[in-house]
Amino acid sequence: MRKSVAVIREDQSVESIPTGLDADTSWMAKGNCRNFPPAMFFPSDGVGVDHARRICAGCEVTNQCLEYAITEKIDHGVWGGCSERERRRIAKRRRAAR
Ligand code: SF4
Repeated sequence: MRKSVAVIREDQSVESIPTGLDADTSWMAKGNCRNFPPAMFFPSDGVGVDHARRICAGCEVTNQCLEYAITEKIDHGVWGGCSERERRRIAKRRRAAR
């Protein structure tokens, strides 16, 4: 069975994002974001991205979160302290290094 996670977009709509078959998502329970409204991690501007980044900066699962978002090709939101654009750059650098 393919797993998915529910995310709440800034407009408060809920989106189901498919995850990998074997993706371990237990780290999500340790994320700092669990104490904040999910919409804060789906900002519409740079100020919102910076705010989310500050919360991610002190999170103990930043690496797992970033790798998850890159591996699962999650297009929206701040994950692992990185915006969509930053994650695309990381993924591009990794592909180029292969
Ligand atoms: S790095 Fe940020 S988005 Fe990821 S779990 Fe931690 S607080 Fe949440």
